[in-house]
Amino acid sequence: MKAAAAGLAAPFAFSQAPNIATAQLGDNLFLITGVGGNVVVRTGAQGVVMVDGGLAQNAGALAQTVAALPNSGPVRTLFNTHWHPEQTGSNEKLGTAGCTIIAQENTRLWLQQNITWPWNGQKFTKFAKIAQPNKTFYDNGTLGDIKYGYISDAAHTDGDLYVYFPQQNVLAVGDAACGEGWPMVDWWTGGWIGGIVGGLQRIQSVVSKDGNKDTKIVPGRGPVLSLADITAQVEMYGTIYDRLNQMLNKGRSPSEGVEAKPAKEFEAKMGNPDEFIRRSFESLWAYLSPDA
Ligand SMILES: [Zn+2]
Repeated sequence: MKAAAAGLAAPFAFSQAPNIATAQLGDNLFLITGVGGNVVVRTGAQGVVMVDGGLAQNAGALAQTVAALPNSGPVRTLFNTHWHPEQTGSNEKLGTAGCTIIAQENTRLWLQQNITWPWNGQKFTKFAKIAQPNKTFYDNGTLGDIKYGYISDAAHTDGDLYVYFPQQNVLAVGDAACGEGWPMVDWWTGGWIGGIVGGLQRIQSVVSKDGNKDTKIVPGRGPVLSLADITAQVEMYGTIYDRLNQMLNKGRSPSEGVEAKPAKEFEAKMGNPDEFIRRSFESLWAYLSPDA
C-alpha cells in the first residue's frame, strides 16, 4: 500500500500547471498551453527560441516541457510579446541562465517600474535587472530566418511585438490578437480600442507581406487563428470602436456605454462584453481627451 501511495503522489509534483499541453505547429515548432499565456517554442540545431514564458509559478513546469520537446536544448532566446505576467514569468529563470531576452523598448521600461492598475488596484512589482529584457529594439529585427517587429498601434500595451517563423509559416502576436473571449484592454500601459483595430490590421499586413492565407497566427490566449479569423475580428472591433466613439462624442459615460450594449450582436459568440466595453470606453478617454 505504501508503494502505491508513493506512486500516486508523483503527478502532484506538477500540480502548479495541471493542464499543460503541447501541440506541433510545424517542423521543430510547438505551442505550449496551460502555463498562463500561449508559449511558442522553436527547437533545433540553431538553438531553442521561445516566444513568451507563461506565469512565474509555472516556469519550472514549462522548462521541463520545453526540455522534453524533440530536438530541444538550452533556451538561447526568449521574446516578451509585452510586459504582462502571463508572458514574462520565465524571465528571471532564463535571464539567470544567460538567455537573450528580446522585447520592444517600451516593454523593458514597464518592467523597470512598479505598476498599479487603477480599475482594480492590482499591483505589479518591477523586475530585477537579471529578469529584464537585455536586448531591445524600436521597430523590427531578425534572428536568423526569424523576423520580429513592433506592433506600434498599442493594441494591448504600447510595447506589443510579433515574431514570424517563415519556415513554418507561423506568426506569434501575443495579446495583440485574442483567440478566446473578449480581450483585456490595458489602457494604463497604452492599449486602447482603436489600437485593437489597428493592431489587427497590422497583423493582416504582416501576413500579406511575409506570409499567406495559410499562415497560422498564435494569439496570447486561445486557439490558433487564421487570416480569415483576423479579418472577422477587424470587422467586429471596428464596429464596436465606431459605436463607442459616437457615444463619447455625445458626452456619454463608460456606464452609459455599457448600458447601450454596443456589442450586442456579438455577445452570443463572445460572451458578456461589459468589462471589455467599460475598459474600451475608458481607453478612449485616455487616448482622446485633451488632458491625456
Ligand atoms: Zn497581456
